[in-house]
Formats: sequence, structure tokens, C-alpha cells
Amino acid sequence: MHETCLIGGRWVGARDGATIPVVCPSDGQVFTHLAAGGPAEIDAALGAAWAAFEGPWGRMPAVERGRILSRVARLIEDNHEELARIEARDTGKPLTQARADITAAARYFEFYGGAADKVQGHTIPFLPGYSVMTVHEPHGVTAHIIPWNYPCQMFGRTVGGALAMGNAVVLKPAEEACLGPLRLAELCLEAGLPAGALNIVTGTGESAGAALAAHPGIRFLSFTGSPEVGTLVQAAAARNHVGCTLELGGKSPQILFRDADLEAALPVLTAAIVQNGGQTCSAGARALIQRDIYDEVVERLADRFRGLTAAPHDADADLGALISARQKARVERYIAQARPPLIARGRVAENAPASGFYVAPALYGPVPEDDPLAQEEVFGPVLSCMPFGDEADAVRIANGTPYGLVAGIWTRDGGRQMRMARAVRAGQVFINGYGAGGGIELPFGGTGRSGHGREKGFEPLRDFAQMKTIVVKHG
Ligand code: NAD
Repeated sequence: MHETCLIGGRWVGARDGATIPVVCPSDGQVFTHLAAGGPAEIDAALGAAWAAFEGPWGRMPAVERGRILSRVARLIEDNHEELARIEARDTGKPLTQARADITAAARYFEFYGGAADKVQGHTIPFLPGYSVMTVHEPHGVTAHIIPWNYPCQMFGRTVGGALAMGNAVVLKPAEEACLGPLRLAELCLEAGLPAGALNIVTGTGESAGAALAAHPGIRFLSFTGSPEVGTLVQAAAARNHVGCTLELGGKSPQILFRDADLEAALPVLTAAIVQNGGQTCSAGARALIQRDIYDEVVERLADRFRGLTAAPHDADADLGALISARQKARVERYIAQARPPLIARGRVAENAPASGFYVAPALYGPVPEDDPLAQEEVFGPVLSCMPFGDEADAVRIANGTPYGLVAGIWTRDGGRQMRMARAVRAGQVFINGYGAGGGIELPFGGTGRSGHGREKGFEPLRDFAQMKTIVVKHG
């Protein structure tokens, strides 16, 4: 399987024949290869995308675009189990999680299929004798660089939105996991998406990714991944005056006040850090617990953590393997160097292959506010417990990292719910719940080191377009 670049409707390999091995995280074994596309493939993809935009795709009425995306949604549902199995093997995530991801990918196409003909401009009161209107026009060609943690979901979220607005797209998926998006691309073609409307270049970040971000042919860039690479791609795009959305992860707090419904909260707190092995940008990585319930909450969380098991994707346990040997080493480094007390750990299943990338979940606390486990994104199944005194203390600790992505607030006090919701620095706030990665309809994104711009829901469609103001002087 070396012909993994989709350019102008044709599947091709890298011109120089270079490939990248694909490893199954569950057993660490290579099971296929990808084309290692680079600047030449990116250039060809940009050419094909512009041809599509200036051709049939760019001329297609919004309602027709929407119908194609809706057909993609139905095809995803028709091939749901196959896609889930591809995604689980490629990422190491449990099958149940992969199935949920495929359902979400279908929902993105359903949502954006329905939205395609509903982005409307407005009229603006101006001087006598004038009429003024705004229209939202596609950028032309948009670039999308996505990570390995939720490949199919990311595809639906960013590609779905950009296509809905009528852009032609060039996607650079993550080299660690992109088989799901490649299968989704086949379904897009089957649904009738014209050649060149969607182009994919598989390859490394340093080569294909960097070439895409710096290409003068792109008009907008959507990036999800690490803050370090986010800085690089934004700088590259800025040289061509290209705007971008950056979604860069977080250190999201879940805040438990003494009046919280612990029966409801504790399973959610555990799930929000264990989901996808903690490799979720919006993982609830810090549990801020009011001091008078701290001991009780930590004890109950410890019980839950001791019961967690990491196992191969088809065993469908609490979590699977992490994505790569590198990611496993990164998380193990945090665990080996941790200074706060270890409260509890889960386990790795006995039958899990030793060559797989498993890490048993770990619960730490009390974690000081300036500790790396309170400040840095581990991107693994590691939860940091932190006691707080009053509401002001909770806000200070919650906002005490460079990130600001998601927050969960657990209290029955209505006034406090709203005060906290307004005071925490985050792009999404959940009251008495938490949605790590969930909610196709909910605009999502961060502030500070978590990035800027929004994806998901209706609002981001305006980012995938440019607003034009038309002023008519008619007297
Ligand atoms: P990364 O930022 O290196 O990779 C994300 C995407 O960017 C991939 O497609 C990659 O190929 C591409 N890329 C890499 N270097 C590039 C470059 N120079 N120019 C253009 N594109 C480039 O992330 P990673 O190394 O896979 O993970 C490192 C850390 O990033 C993780 O441990 C985690 O903390 C964070 N992360 C966050 C998210 C998220 O959803 N916010 C996702 C993945 C990783």
C-alpha cells in the first residue's frame, strides 16, 4: 500500500518511491507502508486543488455540495465497522472508542452537509442612496494538518467544514495514523466529490507538512497538534499572509466543589483522562478538588484507577496502547521523574504484547501548582489532583497554566456555576459534565498555548470563508 497520496482524484506514490512504515501500537509491528510525499507532491496537490476550485467544484451550487457531503455521511455509516477496525488497529485505541469516532466522523459530514447552503451574509444600514451586503466566499484552497489521536474525527471536523464552504482542500494527515482518513477519502470520491476537491499527501511533518504550511498557493491553514509545531506552521503561513486556526492541546481542569454530585462526577473525571489513553487535547488532566472533600475524592478516584486496564485494541479495555514508542517514552519520562506522591496506578493486561506501547494509568496528588504535572501537557493517562480553598483559589489555579482549552465545573450552586464559567480561561466550559472531544455542534478551540480559532459547529464555517462587503450606490 504505497499509493497513499490522493492528487487530482488519483492515488499515487511519492515520486522518489520513498515510504514510511506503519506500526500497529498494540503490538509494535509494521503492517503496511505509506508514501512519503514531500514538496513535489504538495505542489502537485495544490495544482489539482486550484484546478478543481476553478472548475466544477468551485462552480457547484452550495446545495449540491451539501448533498455530496450528506452522501459521504451515509457511506461512512454503511462502512462503519470496517472503518472502526481500521482506526483501532492504526491508533491502538479500543474498538468501542474507534466506533464512537466513526459515528462522530459521519456526524461531521451530516452536519456540514446540512450547513453548506445556510451560511448567509447580511445587509448593513449605511448612507442614504446606498445598499450594503456581505457575502461569505470560499478562500479557494485550504490546507489542513491533523494529528494522530483522532484521525477520522479530525478529518470530518476540518475537511468537512472547509468543503462545505466550497474550498478545495489539501490534507496532510499524521504519519503515525492516517489509514482511517485514507479510507474516508475513498468514500468521498464514491459519494461524487469531484477530482481535486480533496487532495491528500501522506508524509512526514518536517517534509510534507512544512512544505504545505509554507506553500504560497494556500489561502487558509487549519492545524491541530503540538504548540511547538503550531508556532512553526503559523510563522510559515504568515509569510504568505495566510490566516490560520491552531488547536494545540491543553491542561484542562475539572473543578469539584464540596457540593458536587460525586456519584456523577467521579466516573466522568476518570473517563476524561483515560479516554484515548489520555491522548486527547481536551483531556481533563487536572482534578481541582475543594480541600474539605479532597481526601474522600482522592480515595474514590484511587479505587477507580486501580481498576483500569490497558490492553490491545480488540480487547476493548479501558484504554489501549499509546500511539508510538516515542509517545510511550514521553509519558514514562513524566512518570519516572514525577515528584508528587503517586496515589494509585492501573495495570497493563498480562496478555498485552510486550512490544506494544502500553502505559498503566497513574493518579498523582497533591500536585503543587508549579510542578510539571500541573503545568505541562503529558498527553497520556496521568491525572493530577490539586486541592483548593475557595472559589477565588479555584479560579487562580484553573487559570494558572499557559493553556486554556476546556474546563469542567462541578457544583450544585447556580450562581457559582455561572461565576466560574465566566472566570475560567477556556474555549469550552462544561457545568456538571465534561465532553473531552465531544459535541460536533459545539464550537471548540482555545486561548493562549491552546491556540486560537474555532472548529466544530457552525461558527468555524465563517473562518473557512472570507467575508466580502459589497457597497452599491444607487442614489
Ligand atoms: P506534532 O505537532 O508534531 O504533529 C501534528 C501534525 O503536524 C502531524 O501531521 C505532523 O506530521 C505535522 N508536523 C510535524 N512537524 C511539522 C512541521 N515542521 N511542519 C508542518 N507540519 C508538521 O505532534 P506530535 O509530535 O505527533 O505530538 C507531540 C505532542 O503534541 C503530543 O505529545 C501532544 O502533547 C501534542 N499533541 C496535541 C494534539 C492535539 O490534539 N492538540 C494532537 C497531537 C499531539
